[in-house]
Amino acid sequence: MGSVPKIVILGAGYGGILTAQSLQKELRHKEAEVTLVNRHDYHYITTHLHMPAAGTDSIEHARVPISRLIDEFKVDFIKSTVQAIKLEEKKVMLDQGSLDYDYLVLGLGGDPETFGIPGMLKNAFTIRSINSVRLIRDHISYQLAKYKNDNNPARLTFVVGGAGFTGIEFVAELADRLPQLCREYDIRPQDIKIINVEAAPTALPGFDTELVEYAMDVLKRKGVTFRIGIPIKECLADGVIIGEGEKIPTGMVVWTGGIRGNHLIEEAGFEVMRGRVKVDEYLRAPGYDHVYMIGDNSVFMNPEGRPYPPTAQIAMQQGVVCAKNIAAAIRGRELQKFKFSNKGTVASLGRGEAVAVVGGKKIKGWVAAQLKKMVDIRYLFIIGGIPLVLKKGRFF
Ligand code: FAD
Ligand code: NAD
Repeated sequence: MGSVPKIVILGAGYGGILTAQSLQKELRHKEAEVTLVNRHDYHYITTHLHMPAAGTDSIEHARVPISRLIDEFKVDFIKSTVQAIKLEEKKVMLDQGSLDYDYLVLGLGGDPETFGIPGMLKNAFTIRSINSVRLIRDHISYQLAKYKNDNNPARLTFVVGGAGFTGIEFVAELADRLPQLCREYDIRPQDIKIINVEAAPTALPGFDTELVEYAMDVLKRKGVTFRIGIPIKECLADGVIIGEGEKIPTGMVVWTGGIRGNHLIEEAGFEVMRGRVKVDEYLRAPGYDHVYMIGDNSVFMNPEGRPYPPTAQIAMQQGVVCAKNIAAAIRGRELQKFKFSNKGTVASLGRGEAVAVVGGKKIKGWVAAQLKKMVDIRYLFIIGGIPLVLKKGRFF
């Protein structure tokens, strides 16, 4: 290691931003060089993406320039796409040039998990980034415009694959948005179909059953049809094949069937579980004490030995502990064990509706929807203080 240790953070998502901001606070002047690498010069708020995807909110509410979030005197930001991680050489290959590191933080987020379903990667849309959301938003409008020219009813059928939290939050927004678009495109709302297909025996598998029922009732009232307990088997250019071979003709499939770790992790040679690395109690990759993995790149086990679900909440908490541990390692001090503190779960069901479990209490309806706004505002406050809350917060 050189005289000033080099810390490289890959990815400026929930985990990466919190790591960079915490290192800014933790490290003394010239104690280390910190470099943050991200594909875009903005941080996107993934937990908002279902809204701009459906067109119920602006893209600008879901992103923040990275320069607003970091102190550029303390953290060097490089806008670049990581191409490869060379573990043995302690080097990261970028689209232009490379970076050497003494400590590496991997916060590159996830890739869509398609389980090898034929045609899914090619034909379906996914809610993963600002750019993927732009495609979804425009394609919804395109389908309606095209229908006015060719009268193909499949264009008015929108299929969402997977009724996990992402699928449910997205269909809810879609159900709010399509009636507005129908007015704009002179289409009868009753001709629209929104179909949410879920392989598991229930929507939101693992979530409180009473709240799942409530959520499904709200969404059915908004016009969503559920096909539960039926897997999507294939995704074609003009439809999906489900269950025993039934075809649902559609001009648009949005796949929300799950995520896996970023492909670069497996390509680097780590041993992975669905593309993610099972980290130790200090968030380090096994066998690589200088490599920390956070958020959707990592698997962290709960006390019962099951992995915590990959969420923004855990990514943020890991970012903070990861920064503390790197500072401690540089100073030759003892590292802190990561302990997840679950603040609860809130899922939006579109305008004025949500379901939540907070502190063991079930909350639904308008109150839960306000809670969702508070969670979002709290995040903006954590990363950008009151100015960011005022600029990007959604209060109504
Ligand atoms: P991310 O936030 O995905 O950040 C990864 C970063 O790495 C991005 O900035 C990306 O641009 C960058 N990157 C990727 N590849 C490269 C590359 N090759 N080179 C350079 N940069 C790269 N969780 C919750 O807790 N609550 C919620 O309400 C919630 N809602 C969600 C709603 C939706 C629609 C979705 C899709 C997810 C939601 N989640 C929610 C899950 C949550 O968003 C993720 O678990 C969280 O974003 C993981 O954070 P991360 O830091 O690991 O990765
Ligand atoms: P997920 O893995 O949680 O859900 C994917 C769903 O797709 C599952 O219900 C699965 O059974 C279904 N599925 C898989 N294969 C299928 C097939 N062939 N046909 C039909 N259905 C299929 O993925 P997600 O919803 O994207 O969530 C990812 C992570 O982000 C999770 O940890 C989740 O908790 C978190 N998240 C949280 C929130 C929130 O807290 N409000 C919102 C979105 C995401």
